[in-house]
Amino acid sequence: MIEKSLFRDPNLRLEGQEDAPEKVPVSTCPRCRKNQELPALAQGLFLCPRCGYHFKINARDRIGMTLDEGSFREMGKRIASKDPLSFPGYKEKLEQARGQSGEHEAVITGAGSIFGQPCAFFAMEYQFMMGSMGAAVGEKLTRLFERALERRLPVVGYPLSGGARVQEGIHSLMQMAKVSGAVRRHADSGLLYIAVLCDATTGGVAASFALQADIILAEPGALVGFAGPRVIEQTTRQKLPEGFQRAEFQMEKGFVGKIVRRREQRELLGLLLRMHAGGPA
Ligand SMILES: [Zn+2]
Repeated sequence: MIEKSLFRDPNLRLEGQEDAPEKVPVSTCPRCRKNQELPALAQGLFLCPRCGYHFKINARDRIGMTLDEGSFREMGKRIASKDPLSFPGYKEKLEQARGQSGEHEAVITGAGSIFGQPCAFFAMEYQFMMGSMGAAVGEKLTRLFERALERRLPVVGYPLSGGARVQEGIHSLMQMAKVSGAVRRHADSGLLYIAVLCDATTGGVAASFALQADIILAEPGALVGFAGPRVIEQTTRQKLPEGFQRAEFQMEKGFVGKIVRRREQRELLGLLLRMHAGGPA
């Protein structure tokens, strides 16, 4: 699974040509500039071995890293955005996003297990229009929470998004209310929802289901907020403090419960699911 996605990493810098197969692709850490061969980086969960920087990873890799091997069953695979407003250039953008990410939409939903604990699961795809939420993303997530409610399953999710998808206008904004309704019904019946916020979780996704989880975890350094820091700085004409809106800042402000490094996420999620399933922790 990791192998398949290696060549879609935007930090990827190919050294040498395709006709020189002995050259291994190299990726550069955006924080400390360390060069690392890509297969080794993938083996290490896409963490920089020098500074611990968490590279962005795609939704399929999340599934591979988090769920028990072979346990994932995908749902709503064919649900994909149309172009309800005939927005100029949107159809082409969708096609491009599909080609780039290999996915139909910006979220993958389904069910699986973590250390044997069954759960509904979603992961958002940053290579699909920055994980933006249009009608299809909203529909997939709504169905996921509804299915989880029917089957009495907890939900574990990895939100990551630039926000509502501007090309779908009001159809996109409506998803905030729709998904929130499904999250609420799931919560009201006493079921658990855990979110692990990834870099970056912003806009209408942050303002709806991402921050409505019962337990909110985040990856180190993830940007979490509604409007981005640049927009805020321009609007308020104030210099923002160092680390503004990063996960560590948001934990200090009470928006995030715990920052969890990628290496520890699966174990913690398994433990939390087990604790809430009522079994022995
Ligand atoms: Zn680094």
